[in-house]
Amino acid sequence: PALDSSHSLDTARATMRETFGYPDFRPGQDEVIAAVLGGRDVLAVMPTGAGKSMCYQLPALVREGLTVVVSPLIALMRDQVAQLRTNGVAAGALNSANDQEENDRVRDALRTGALQLLYISPERLVNNGTAEWLARSGARLLAIDEAHCVSQWGHDFRPEYAALGDVRRRLGDIQTIALTATADIATRGDIAGQLFTQEPTTFVHGFDRPNLYLAMEPRTDRSRQILRFLEKHRGESGIVYCASRKATETLAQTLSDKGVTALAYHAGIESQERSRRQDRFLREDGIVMVATVAFGMGIDKPDVRFVVHAALPKSIEAYYQEIGRAGRDGAPADTLTLYGLEDIRLRRTQIEESNASDEQKRIERQRLDALVSLCEAPQCRRQTLLSYFGESAEPCGHCDLCLGGVTRFDATIEAQKILSAIARTGERFGAEHIVAILVGEESEQVRRHGHHGLKTFGVGKDRPKQAWRSLMRQIYAAGLVQIAIDDHGRWRITERGDAVLRGRERITLRSDVLESGKSGKGTKE
Ligand code: ADP
Ligand code: ZN
Repeated sequence: PALDSSHSLDTARATMRETFGYPDFRPGQDEVIAAVLGGRDVLAVMPTGAGKSMCYQLPALVREGLTVVVSPLIALMRDQVAQLRTNGVAAGALNSANDQEENDRVRDALRTGALQLLYISPERLVNNGTAEWLARSGARLLAIDEAHCVSQWGHDFRPEYAALGDVRRRLGDIQTIALTATADIATRGDIAGQLFTQEPTTFVHGFDRPNLYLAMEPRTDRSRQILRFLEKHRGESGIVYCASRKATETLAQTLSDKGVTALAYHAGIESQERSRRQDRFLREDGIVMVATVAFGMGIDKPDVRFVVHAALPKSIEAYYQEIGRAGRDGAPADTLTLYGLEDIRLRRTQIEESNASDEQKRIERQRLDALVSLCEAPQCRRQTLLSYFGESAEPCGHCDLCLGGVTRFDATIEAQKILSAIARTGERFGAEHIVAILVGEESEQVRRHGHHGLKTFGVGKDRPKQAWRSLMRQIYAAGLVQIAIDDHGRWRITERGDAVLRGRERITLRSDVLESGKSGKGTKE
């Protein structure tokens, strides 16, 4: 029977204070822990540093029985076990790095029921008989760390993780909590489908970084735009991300010529020099690091005041991670992303020319579309960003879109044209097909499906394809359509889209981004 979870949450809080010395839960931890204590299967999506481990460690401490923790990184596993032991928790690990003595100790502790937490590598856990043996040892909760590794759609697929759904059944379908820091909605659905037999209680928490100002603009003159931005940040430390090593060198030079203390940083710089530059950035104030994305990981400088992307980041996840390096001290920090059609074209070419499977390429294309939708978002940028992570929010009031500076028009008619093309083709087609119908292009596919006979065929002749693509990304960002990730990127109309299609609601979209599309005319995008 489920315990009274508010009562047991108090117990958990007291145990946390006693064992770890933390005065209170971090945002999000309490709801997840309460759900676990209430006996539910849980999928928790929380950013790095949010304190995900506590979400299964505390239930392991306050309840009877063994908690089995699957974690892909042996080094992290060792750290956690050592830390838990220091705090007096009965924890152990089974992985290939153990010596025989350690293995025997862990097995003894398991036999006598003395162990509270067992960390185990997925390779070990999927071994014949291991799950059954752990079930007999009283396993009660399965915690799966870095759960996005089960999904081919995630960015870190690990084949060993694919067997974990089966392992869970072999453990006797025990209660399971899956945790990850990076799961867009598609990846999340995949995790839930693979690891759980029933829909888990899902928590998405804490992706908002309210102290970050968000802005994106089309790139017209890179150096001028960045210099103008830097004028607002004299004497402050920040990072400017570039797409290539060469670009970091040339931009650092240009900025230096204008009196900015700028240093280039990329993996091609000799390592001693690289760490010298990194040290300067950490120690001195007012250094602008002009870097590739190689810079930043593991760098803990709380007072980075700005992050600029001189080119489109790789994905929304990458964007979020990279801007997240600013303002860790919680004080206001500024971000700016410059994007151009060349960036989009380049990324698309990289995707097409990669060795990835067709399935993977399609996912990457959709990721890119989502990112471009963020660039052209018709309303609050933070709302669009957070909705990508499955979090809902009110307009933030301090992004470029909330504060104006873009031009808009009543696009209800345009949206209705798109939506009606989607509806009349049975919500079974992707963006390019819809665009072809709108502009009245008799493509091979259009003819094959007889779509040149539709009433909507050619209703969008007045605008170039590029403008329609932008409008489609915007209505996607505004939540009028959903893109099915699992079957050919089909566009489906949401409830809100239906309201616009039927004229019950009007929609305002941006016109400024339609014009910038002109330069892309005649190019394949
Ligand atoms: P994540 O896995 O989400 O990246 P961790 O579980 O590694 O995060 O936790 C990050 C750090 O925060 C750890 O040092 C952990 O001990 C600490 N921590 C966790 N919960 C709390 C809390 N409630 N109060 C203070 N520190 C906490
Ligand atoms: Zn906003």
